[in-house]
Amino acid sequence: MVAEVTMTGGCMCGAVRYATKGDPFIVGHCHCESCRKHCGAAFGTLVGFKVDQVAFNGDQRRIYESSPDIGRAFCGKCGTPLTWEGDGGDIGHIVEIHIGTFDNPHALVPTRHAFYNERLPWIDKADQLPRFEGFPDDSPILQYGPSSGSLSEV
Ligand SMILES: [Zn+2]
Ligand SMILES: [Zn+2]
Repeated sequence: MVAEVTMTGGCMCGAVRYATKGDPFIVGHCHCESCRKHCGAAFGTLVGFKVDQVAFNGDQRRIYESSPDIGRAFCGKCGTPLTWEGDGGDIGHIVEIHIGTFDNPHALVPTRHAFYNERLPWIDKADQLPRFEGFPDDSPILQYGPSSGSLSEV
């Protein structure tokens, strides 16, 4: 018998917590404008589950309805974006969780890009910008360019 994978996560202040059971049906980047606005980031990276795989605890998450039946959840105390959730078509009700809110996001690897035509134009260039260890003004340059040899192996 294979043990069910359980992962945990939550918002920045810790008021809203969640636990997920089983494998996500998708781990992927989303370049749609709604994800960009909700995350305040260049794109979103989401981990999708059926609604019954996710249990929230702690404070109730706040939900902004970004379009009919599509909720964008966040913590009412610290404002951390948490999910988009709602009708997933054939899959039923789904909860897609922003990868950065997991306690161990390193365990999850994205496998695709959605809404690629809405991407910011510089997003998938193998840029040669300097990589600093910390704040650029007071830490050393680690390297120029990405750590992986090519983007195709990511
Ligand atoms: Zn919070
Ligand atoms: Zn999106």
